[in-house]
Order: sequence, then C-alpha cells, then structure tokens
Amino acid sequence: MRAIQLPAWHSAAVLNDVPVPTAGPGQVVIKIAGAGACHSDLHLMTMLGDGMFPWGPPFTLGHENSGWVHEIGAGVSGFTVGEPVAVQGAWGCGACSKCLNGIDAYCENPTAAAGDGAFGGGLGLDGGMAEFMLIHDPRHLVKIPAGLDPVAAAPLTDAGLTPYHAVKLSLEKMVPGSNVLILGVGGLGHMGVQFVKTLTGANIIAADTRQEALDLATRCGADFTVQSDAEDAAAQIAELTRGRKCDVVLDFVGVDASIALGVASSKVMGDMTIVGAAGGTYAYGLYTAPYELRLRSTYWGSGPELGEVLTLAAKGRIDVTYTTYALEDGLQAYHDLEHGKLKGRAVIVP
Ligand SMILES: [Zn+2]
Ligand SMILES: [Zn+2]
Repeated sequence: MRAIQLPAWHSAAVLNDVPVPTAGPGQVVIKIAGAGACHSDLHLMTMLGDGMFPWGPPFTLGHENSGWVHEIGAGVSGFTVGEPVAVQGAWGCGACSKCLNGIDAYCENPTAAAGDGAFGGGLGLDGGMAEFMLIHDPRHLVKIPAGLDPVAAAPLTDAGLTPYHAVKLSLEKMVPGSNVLILGVGGLGHMGVQFVKTLTGANIIAADTRQEALDLATRCGADFTVQSDAEDAAAQIAELTRGRKCDVVLDFVGVDASIALGVASSKVMGDMTIVGAAGGTYAYGLYTAPYELRLRSTYWGSGPELGEVLTLAAKGRIDVTYTTYALEDGLQAYHDLEHGKLKGRAVIVP
C-alpha cells in the first residue's frame, strides 16, 4: 500500500510503498476513512531533531485518524469487522493513573508505551496517512456513533478533542451569563466557540486579527467579536462584559500578545488556558495578574472525551469544516496547509 511518510528529521514528507500491516495478538488493523493533516506534522518536518525524543523517523504520518475495523488480533474482543472507529491519537503505557483515566497524552511512563515511548500513530509509530493502520492496543479506538460520517470523525480526534478538553476544564465557571473569551478563531478556536455555545449559557466574545475569522466566529455562535490587534482591544472586551471582565479565557493562539490580552481581560478568580502552541510566555506574579487567576496550559484530551465529541457531532450540535484530498495528493495538502490556503482542516481520504 502507499503511505505518506516522514523519512528523516528536517525532511519533507514523501509518498512510499510499504507493506500492509497485520494484527498481532492484542492488536487491530483499521482501514482508513480519513487522516487529518495537522500543523504539528509541519513541526515534525522542520523543527524536531535527533535527541529530542526517544523515537524518530521513518514512520507514516497522520495522528488524526478514523476508519473501519479491518482485522482483529487474537485476544481482542468488543469489536466487529467493518465497524466505524476513531483513533485516540496519544498512546501511553496503559497502566499509569493518567492512562487509566484515558488521558494518554500525559502518560507518566511513556518509555513503556509501544514503540519504545513513541507518542502514538503518526508520532513515532506508523500513522493513518495510508490505506491501513496498525492500532497497537484497542484501548485507543473509540466507536463512531451512527449518523456521523467516519471521514468527519478524523479531524475531530484532535481539532475537536483539544478545544473540547480545554472547555471542560473550566465548565463549572461557564455559568449562564458568565463571559468567555476565545482568542484565535482558526481550526481549533472555531470548534471552541461551538463547544461553549452548545454546552453553556455563557456570553461568548471571540477575538482575532482577521475579519474572516471573526465572521466565522459569529456563524459558530459567538455573541460579540473584537479585532484582537486593535490598540484598545482589552478595553473593548471589558466594555462588552460591562466592566466585569471574563470568567474564562481560552487562548488558541499562544503568542506573547494573546496571553497578555487574555490576562488583561480576566477577572479575579478567573480561568485562563493556553491551548495554542506558538510558545509565548507571560511573567506571572502577584502584581501582574488578577488575584487567584488560574493560568494553565493544556494538550489534547482523553478517550472518553473523544467519545463525547463524536456524540455531539453525530447529534449535529457541532460541525467541523474540512477539505478532502486523495492519498496521492497528500503532499499538496501539506503544501496548502503551510501556505494558509485551506478551508478548514485537510483530511486525506485514501
Ligand atoms: Zn494534530
Ligand atoms: Zn501511562
């Protein structure tokens, strides 16, 4: 079969011929319905290198995957051939307290995971940018509810799950009438708006530098939008909350300026979570942030939460925008992603 692979660090992806995987004991092979192309794949090609992880290339890319059960290894129960499934992307040891809670992304013993500590399929082990994919443990599979196209489930495993997890971390503060600020309305941020809208009665303020992103936020259910690079953006946000400021801020950008705007827009005892991976920082201290502001970062989400995201999508309560590409055009998908030419997520459909 053909597969889009990362051949080495500091290298572009290539289309290779590779053997079809077979399911060993305790394993499952799925036939891929969709594999999402992600900005972090571009990081794999450009920013990472030897010695940063215990794992490395070559491997097949694609960590946002869905498909149908194709082959079931000895000892695996609970699945039938042909059943649609989504793949939870991070694969931990399966035995630590984080993995037992389904949040493998925070595994406490990662070197005990499959592939000598590989982070998951498409992140050290072979991923889903191929016709078939080996799932090392059926724990990583989440059944796709009836009514949801398996192709749409692929981007939801990351672009849906990550913002959903961030929203759930602060759900108890998003009471009806509270104010929630969404910074950055891109692939993850527009899902964040939808989750807050469907789960809560909070007022949603969305901020971005681009007018088309603000229009998207309005279509997704934001009550107010603010041009985030306006000099008085913080004052505009405060005014929209009638001076109360925001109970919860979700920063889907993560640069210095967005974190600063988020803290300036937060209230005493508020929550601010950095989701965007741009690497910005903030000098947190007694006099630089509101009292008892809880400032934290987050990464990905849990298996049970992925099931909840898929259910919301199957019920039509959230909607992910994506463009499909054939496997042969996968390199073009990365090119379009890199150059900002995509409408929504790029999903490879073999
Ligand atoms: Zn991703
Ligand atoms: Zn673990």
